[in-house]
Amino acid sequence: MATSSSGHRKQILLFLAAVLVPCLALVIFGLQVVRQERELAGKRAAEERLRRGQEIGQHLLVRLERIKLEETQQAAARPEKLAGFAYRNSETILIGLVVDGRLLLPWEFSTSVQESRSALEQSAFRRKIQDGEQAEFAFRDPARAASLFREAAAAPVGVQNAYARLLLARALAKSGKKADAISHYRELLRLTSSVTDELGIPLSLYAAERLQSYEANPAEVAERLCSAVNERRWLSPLETSMLGSLLEKAAAAAGPASRAAERARASLGEIRFYKQKLETVLGLPRDFEKQRHLLDEAGQVAGSEPVWIVDSEGSNLMGTGDPLAGTGRLLFVIGGLDLLSSLHRDRGFSTTFPEELRLAAGAGPHGESLGPNFPGLKIVFPAAAEDDPLGAWSFRRSFYLLAMALVIALTLFGAYLLWRDVRRDLKLAEIRSQFVSSVSHELKTPLTSIRMFAETLRLRPAGDPTARQEYLDTIIKESERLSRLLNNVLDFSKIEQGKKVYRPAPASLPEIIQETTRALEYPLKQLGLALNVECEEGLPEVRVDRDGLEQALMNLLTNAMKYSGDSREIGLRLLKQGTWAVIKVIDRGVGIDPAEHRRIFGKFYRVASPENDRLPGTGLGLSLVSHFAKAHQGRVEVESSPGRGSTFSLYLPLEQAS
Ligand code: ADP
Repeated sequence: MATSSSGHRKQILLFLAAVLVPCLALVIFGLQVVRQERELAGKRAAEERLRRGQEIGQHLLVRLERIKLEETQQAAARPEKLAGFAYRNSETILIGLVVDGRLLLPWEFSTSVQESRSALEQSAFRRKIQDGEQAEFAFRDPARAASLFREAAAAPVGVQNAYARLLLARALAKSGKKADAISHYRELLRLTSSVTDELGIPLSLYAAERLQSYEANPAEVAERLCSAVNERRWLSPLETSMLGSLLEKAAAAAGPASRAAERARASLGEIRFYKQKLETVLGLPRDFEKQRHLLDEAGQVAGSEPVWIVDSEGSNLMGTGDPLAGTGRLLFVIGGLDLLSSLHRDRGFSTTFPEELRLAAGAGPHGESLGPNFPGLKIVFPAAAEDDPLGAWSFRRSFYLLAMALVIALTLFGAYLLWRDVRRDLKLAEIRSQFVSSVSHELKTPLTSIRMFAETLRLRPAGDPTARQEYLDTIIKESERLSRLLNNVLDFSKIEQGKKVYRPAPASLPEIIQETTRALEYPLKQLGLALNVECEEGLPEVRVDRDGLEQALMNLLTNAMKYSGDSREIGLRLLKQGTWAVIKVIDRGVGIDPAEHRRIFGKFYRVASPENDRLPGTGLGLSLVSHFAKAHQGRVEVESSPGRGSTFSLYLPLEQAS
């Protein structure tokens, strides 16, 4: 027993090892593949980003250089345009001038301001103006001052003339000639904005201020201020704030419902918008100062290659052009966001161009370098673009895991089927070997007795007649037992091969019962058992195979005899129950555990107990009874419990008689 269970355990362990080891190897292999795949996906994503970065860098460069070329051409053709902010390309934020490594903003390098400055600082003119101012302020003689300023106004240069007239108007006003002053101011109001003082403020604005203080010609003043805004020139911060406050006053002075006030308010809105733009522009010189070394260094590395740097916010790109004769280099500031979105709009490029991009100076977590033309600049891809290759990866990972789980599940299922088959085969082999040993044992016992008694008779032919008779009876009884056993084995083999044929014919059940019990009379007597037979009267004939029924009854009765234990009584009843003829074989013997009730009808099955082990048996008897019952559309049932005996009931349908 112990050896067989340890053998089983060994088999199971071997089996588990045979299944689990490949499964484990598969899992490890699968995980390895998954890990490598992930690394590969990461690398692929990085390579893809690098490729895209370079591609975008190339496109950016081409676009930037084109903008630079166009703006340079325009600036060369019309230099005064540099003072305006209506550039050729909408992406251009500013075109500044780099002189001695310093970025000058448009109003700082405006030639008209420089010209005004030198004209106003011309010594002869300056002296006349100083004389006039002395008369006006030191001697408090506005009339004298007015004549001195009138002299100065005779100057041939336009700006000198205008400047002197401005002062003349002031002196006239002080000397009580307000109307004259106003008419001068109105003339000055009509001057173009390029006529400025040394700070770059148009003289017309001073005239406007004066007129506002006299509350004269508000509509005309408002008109002039609006046209100053519409010129789309770069306004210095000083001029911007002056224009802003003048416009506010103009809007108030012109009356709330007037057209002039409406226009003044619209221009005021534009000035406020311009102020915001100015904030960005004012920060650029400092940024340029900080980043300039990048331009220089990269310029050295890249040689004649164009170089672009990014401002500290990462929103604008700066690049210099070729030196302009006599002035310095032009510096182009291009709005990064506008540039990226205009690139994005380009046809044929949108497939590889991410929806949203960001430029970043310095090292970002996922920033990609844009190449040597953009030192220190990285392009940051949006999260969605990052996720894309990883999304494909996560799909692939799920696919791998699913496939692996499927393979493992199939392997385990296959293994289970195999295991079940192997176990069944093992059990069958065990049962067969048990069967062979029990049949041999069954055959050997009667054969030994037959041989022993036959030899005794041969040795003593003229012995005691009673003993002789007894020997002969035993020989007959044992050979009957032998033939029963062989019948069972032969029947079973026929059933297994599907060759067992029953030949039902109408038969009287009490008659068959009588014949069977007669055949058992001798063994019953030998065992000291009493068989109590009760047959119900008037039962019709039943269609059965006579030999089959005899054999089935014999099996049930020999079982009752075998498993009677200490009880010496066996019952046999024939009765009618509804449409059934029922034959009951009753004993008061060892009984059967209810858990075994179904199994005992299985082939070769014997209840495992020490008592049963001592009793001969093949485990075929009840399986033959059950086969017989089913072949006759009947059934066999058992009622039994350990120690209280068993009742086997064979049900045969009565309709069979017809
Ligand atoms: P066997 O040759 O072992 O008797 P059977 O198929 O006739 O084979 O019976 C199967 C098993 O059912 C027996 O091994 C026995 O344990 C049990 N069995 C059958 N009949 C009886 C009975 N009348 N009383 C107790 N146990 C029985």
